[in-house]
Amino acid sequence: MSHDHHHEHEHENHYSDMQARVKALETLLTAKGLIDPAAIDAIVETYEIKIGPRNGAAVVAKAWSNPQFAERLKRDATEAIASLSYTGRQGEHMRAVFNTPETHNLVVCTLCSCYPWSVLGLPPVWYKAPAYRSRAVIDPRGVLAEFGLVLPDTKKIRVWDSTAELRYLVIPERPTGTDGLSEVELAALVSRDAMIGTAVASPAGARS
Ligand code: FE
Repeated sequence: MSHDHHHEHEHENHYSDMQARVKALETLLTAKGLIDPAAIDAIVETYEIKIGPRNGAAVVAKAWSNPQFAERLKRDATEAIASLSYTGRQGEHMRAVFNTPETHNLVVCTLCSCYPWSVLGLPPVWYKAPAYRSRAVIDPRGVLAEFGLVLPDTKKIRVWDSTAELRYLVIPERPTGTDGLSEVELAALVSRDAMIGTAVASPAGARS
């Protein structure tokens, strides 16, 4: 598999420049009493946790409810996701990796912070942190335990290293006892972390 991070690094350089500008604007607007930084943090958090990952949750719920869509997603995730009008930057391909009773999937970007923006929104801070990026590969079971997810030793963990060209979406296992639920109700059980693989979908819902 090719690990061409060239474009992503260009993007990140551009991004740091942008972040510096954003910081300067935020400082100026705060000094003038025009904005409250706490309010900005709240908005960013909303995109990170609530709004952003809802596209991905809808993809998962559809895959759970509709076997034909699940097949399509397995065959060509880029196409299947685009059919729901969730599209990313040009040239960005998606692959859906399905959790099974035997295998749990975990997504990382070891070199930078490649992330499926179109379905998950903004990446969480820990996803970009060097500790997660290095340890997810060396000790995935230990990392998952720190997230509160203890998997049986018999369950295999597959770690997928994202690149600028190929991003992964974990399709968690559908929780038992959810047979009668609608797609909207099912989507509410799918957290962002479950689609990165640091959690599983639970009947308790995406809030947990
Ligand atoms: Fe990356």
